[in-house]
Amino acid sequence: MEKGKKLYEGKAKIIYATEEPDKVVIYFKDDTTAFDGIKKEQIAGKGVINNTISSLIFELLQKRGIPTHYIKKLSDREMLAYRVEIIPVEVVVRNYAAGSFTRRYGIPEGTKLEKPLVETFWKNDELHDPLVCNEHIELLKLADLEDVKKMKEMALVVNEVLKDFFAERNIILVDFKLEFGKTPDGRLVLADEISPDSCRLWDAKTMKKLDKDVFRYDLGSLEEAYKEVLKRLENK
Ligand code: UDP
Repeated sequence: MEKGKKLYEGKAKIIYATEEPDKVVIYFKDDTTAFDGIKKEQIAGKGVINNTISSLIFELLQKRGIPTHYIKKLSDREMLAYRVEIIPVEVVVRNYAAGSFTRRYGIPEGTKLEKPLVETFWKNDELHDPLVCNEHIELLKLADLEDVKKMKEMALVVNEVLKDFFAERNIILVDFKLEFGKTPDGRLVLADEISPDSCRLWDAKTMKKLDKDVFRYDLGSLEEAYKEVLKRLENK
């Protein structure tokens, strides 16, 4: 599949048109950003690792009946996907307290939550992705509430699948963010990427961080951490 015109460039990926109007090529860059793009760096090989991990996870989720935009991995850095309009509501699922949850509610990092928590955020860089509830989503006309209900249900299924998948590889799935999109024929599908850029992953024995927090808080080599995740996913 030949890459066509560039449709969109985000912080970590570029989307290209293809000769088929309903399909796009997603190109994974090495650019790494945190804190709404304030901290920025190129990390050699990150795009290759994230494309590989995302492809592997989308294949697993598809097998478990979750509709996704993923079609196939095309090359080291490229994935073929259905073209979707991204719904500007990010869904976060948490199993343990971390990140903005610890800051917002004063619960110490690493506290196990009694049951998975689903949160929704408005995908809006300028406003720093504020937390929104259904009433905000409706008022701001961000998404159809029926779709949001389905997104939350799907996110909990994704959590069950991925929690076990990572646990079998000695990794704790602390939290993760999902994005959903609508295909031109109106199907609601899981989209974007699922990688250590969008998940918090801790080594189950040492509790060492194996995700983007390594970059956010200068905890060592991000490349080494992501490679370790990939190794465990591939060599179980
Ligand atoms: N996350 C993401 N993109 C965002 C915001 C969050 O991928 O724009 C992921 C983040 O990596 C973590 C989870 O969603 O795995 C929850 O993030 P949190 O709300 O704690 O925000 P953070 O403190 O990471 O900014």
